Amino acid sequence: MAFELPKLPYEMAALEPFISKQTLEFHYGKHHRTYVDNLNRLVQGTPFENSSLEEIVRNAEGGIFNNGAQVWNHTFYWNSLSPEVDQQPPAILLKQLEASFGSFDAFKQAFTQAAATLFGSGWAWLVRHPDGKLSIVQESNAGNPLRRGLTPLLTCDVWEHAYYLDKQNRRPDYIADFWHLVNWKGVGEGL
Ligand code: MN
Repeated sequence: MAFELPKLPYEMAALEPFISKQTLEFHYGKHHRTYVDNLNRLVQGTPFENSSLEEIVRNAEGGIFNNGAQVWNHTFYWNSLSPEVDQQPPAILLKQLEASFGSFDAFKQAFTQAAATLFGSGWAWLVRHPDGKLSIVQESNAGNPLRRGLTPLLTCDVWEHAYYLDKQNRRPDYIADFWHLVNWKGVGEGL
């Protein structure tokens, strides 16, 4: 059973002006698709051939992990964004963010800092711990918090391919625009 590229949950131009149609054509249409194709090629004849994507994210190593996690991470990232811009977190989630970070602004500042300072390629995540507390983690390359027993709630892709066509080297500008697009309703419902 081959892994498939999930349908993008909105049109390619739906995130403009914050993320361009051209970026989504490459980021979803080329990068995400290539991870799916690589994964399907790499799992053939291995113990992961019939595994779920989440099993691969949790347990695989090397190229199977890298491509499998990138498939999972990108699908999660598309769902972390919404064309319905400038949403606010639902009340229950807002309370949890305030309890864990002091205030919503303090959370945004800490997440922005984590995304901006991640060296090289990777992902910034808002996660839930088993005890219910929320925190922010940085993961390099294809890293995914599921491997540490944490539940992802929101992610920001800070690989250069996520922003280079629109913003060139200006990652902080990309992160500033990311906030307009966060799918807070989805995050509040566990995406
Ligand atoms: Mn990416």
